[in-house]
Amino acid sequence: MKKGLLIILSGPSGVGKGTVRELFCKDPELNIAYSVSMTTRQRRDNETNGVEYFFVSRPTFEKAIENDELLEHAEFVGNYYGTPKKYVDDLRNQGKNVLLEIEVEGAKQVISKVADALTIFIVPPSMQELEKRIRGRRSETEEVVQLRLAKAGKEMEKLGSYKFIVCNDDPHLAAQIISLIIKRHME
Ligand code: 5GP
Repeated sequence: MKKGLLIILSGPSGVGKGTVRELFCKDPELNIAYSVSMTTRQRRDNETNGVEYFFVSRPTFEKAIENDELLEHAEFVGNYYGTPKKYVDDLRNQGKNVLLEIEVEGAKQVISKVADALTIFIVPPSMQELEKRIRGRRSETEEVVQLRLAKAGKEMEKLGSYKFIVCNDDPHLAAQIISLIIKRHME
């Protein structure tokens, strides 16, 4: 059986990666399995353990690093985030195209291990719009909002290491474009 693709989706916090991802993942032809990451971040009210993330303590996360259970991991605004390795390998071996929605440092680690990973970076139509979206989420303190905005500027500087840059002005359009990119790579 042909091994599935490894797809990396990145973009600054608040750009709408989750919304775009949910839209294109509905397309059954893409045969996508979403990789649920592990994080030490606090769960938001609208999140469920095991769906958006596996929410774990710092010692549990550090144990996973020590045991080499993560394909990549990074610290983002004071919390750890990482991709469980076995889950990704098993699904790709079953022919599934596995999608990682991760930040740029983690993406760099994956690219160095999986040279043919399909990398896509989502950009906002403007930084003003990004700020509006981050504030619209109303789930974080002003301090965290400022940290996420500063981080967004830094992340945008790294978009040169991605194969495709897609602007999320309209999430439906962005999802359609990403869907086409993935289909071309499946051929
Ligand atoms: P959030 O706290 O907004 O859910 O995520 C913060 C950032 O961490 C986002 O850019 C998100 O894509 C990224 N992220 C989520 N899971 C992972 C992961 O497993 N590894 C890495 N490196 N970044 C992740």
